Amino acid sequence: MKDPKELTEQEWKEKLTEEQYRVLREKGTETPFSGKYYSEEREGIYYCGGCGQELFSSKTKYDSHCGWPSFYDLANTSNVEIKEDRSYGMVRTEVLCRRCGSHLGHLFPDGPKPTGQRYCINSAALAFKLSHPQE
Ligand SMILES: [Zn+2]
Repeated sequence: MKDPKELTEQEWKEKLTEEQYRVLREKGTETPFSGKYYSEEREGIYYCGGCGQELFSSKTKYDSHCGWPSFYDLANTSNVEIKEDRSYGMVRTEVLCRRCGSHLGHLFPDGPKPTGQRYCINSAALAFKLSHPQE
């Protein structure tokens, strides 16, 4: 497989749905409470919608009432990149997939214990796999 960082924007467009492309590649934000994983409560793993790298576990997902899937910790800290985002006249912390460089969402310091962090992630940036699909 080709290194996802070397994909052209045209190749990304062919690989992703329109909504995924808008979020992952154009740093868009899906409408709150609209995403398919917002109220997902089953046990499983969340992967990057762009390259399939593991990002979050359902064990750290919680209901933040913000309208997007929220996690208080990462599955593996080396899988994401954290960057300052000054777009839209705000200073926010952007969360990106380290492997493919896609935009995932933002990080806020108002999460629950033990980390105090809230990874506010677009459903469109994620792919979910159930841990126990037959149950
Ligand atoms: Zn990725």
